[in-house]
Amino acid sequence: MTHKVTLIPGDGVGPEIMAVARRVIEASGVSVTWEVVEAGEAVIPEYGTPLPERVLESIRTNRVALKGPLTTPVGRGFRSVNVTLRQELDLYANVRPARSLPGIRSRYQDIDLIVVRENTEDLYAGIEHWCGRDAAESIKLITRPASERIVRFAFELARREGRCKVTAVHKANIMKCTDGLFLECARKVAGEYPDIDFEEWIVDAMAMKLVQAPENFDVLVMPNLYGDILSDLCAGLVGGLGVAPGANIGDEAAVFEPVHGSAPKYAGQNKVNPLAAVLSGVMMLRHLGEAEAADRIMRGVTAVLTKGETLTYDLGGTAGTAEMGEAIIREM
Ligand code: NAD
Repeated sequence: MTHKVTLIPGDGVGPEIMAVARRVIEASGVSVTWEVVEAGEAVIPEYGTPLPERVLESIRTNRVALKGPLTTPVGRGFRSVNVTLRQELDLYANVRPARSLPGIRSRYQDIDLIVVRENTEDLYAGIEHWCGRDAAESIKLITRPASERIVRFAFELARREGRCKVTAVHKANIMKCTDGLFLECARKVAGEYPDIDFEEWIVDAMAMKLVQAPENFDVLVMPNLYGDILSDLCAGLVGGLGVAPGANIGDEAAVFEPVHGSAPKYAGQNKVNPLAAVLSGVMMLRHLGEAEAADRIMRGVTAVLTKGETLTYDLGGTAGTAEMGEAIIREM
């Protein structure tokens, strides 16, 4: 069977890492037809927007996309393309696994966590405005349907993957309405899954506990902004952003992308780690039911990491992005 997949190369280092992910997926033996569509800063002069309608149409039609990182200007400029894309396609679940990989030097060797982040609301939706010149307000929108939906997604994922525990992360002691509602929904949904343990942690204590004893956790579910922050923390536990994949899942479409951004200072240097993009491709193949191809890629990745000869700078090596990709293909 041939899969038609939307491919968005992205900004900054995006085109380099996505070229590697594409080559590795093609070498895995799976049949994919890529529909390459451009989004991001570079297309604004041509389309007047960083997210042309044809990008959304392509994902709606193909229902699966592999996406490179897209730049968002800090403190000015256009609204985040990533946030818009997730909202437009109702990709409500952001799934970010953090798993220890062989050969990577990090603080822990046995991490196997999944961060499930609500992906459409909370402060991260960017509903904000100025109040005169010297004050600004941002609205933290939390709704019952979105909260119940994401917690149910986390429990279903836990059940499917044979995991033992779901932990809800919140700050309901301070934000009694918004995070209070999220927590109320989490407790209610947890009651529907008596086979899976449930616990709740306040986000600041959670950050400390993740650094001290990450082995105590399994599936974590939380509102958007906490998920953004804690998933980078979890990436740091297993080797950094260069090895952290992610997925944005909705009922109608799924977009797979590295957790990291466009790393503009490294753009065009053939320097950054392509693994986050490759592992996002592995998640995509599993989503498409191509477990054998996904396993083949993981064998290549594991061999390259274990040998330790062809690694990018972040893993202590001197290899380039493309060279590491070629090494993975050789080992597959
Ligand atoms: P970033 O993730 O792009 O980079 C931060 C640092 O992490 C880099 O300087 C580098 O040291 C390291 N890093 C990132 N990717 C790496 C890789 N593959 N290999 C090795 N090291 C890697 O974060 P930033 O600099 O804060 O953001 C840059 C831009 O990316 C911003 O415009 C931001 O909005 C955007 N962004 C986009 C996404 C997305 O598209 N999903 C996610 C995060 C940030």
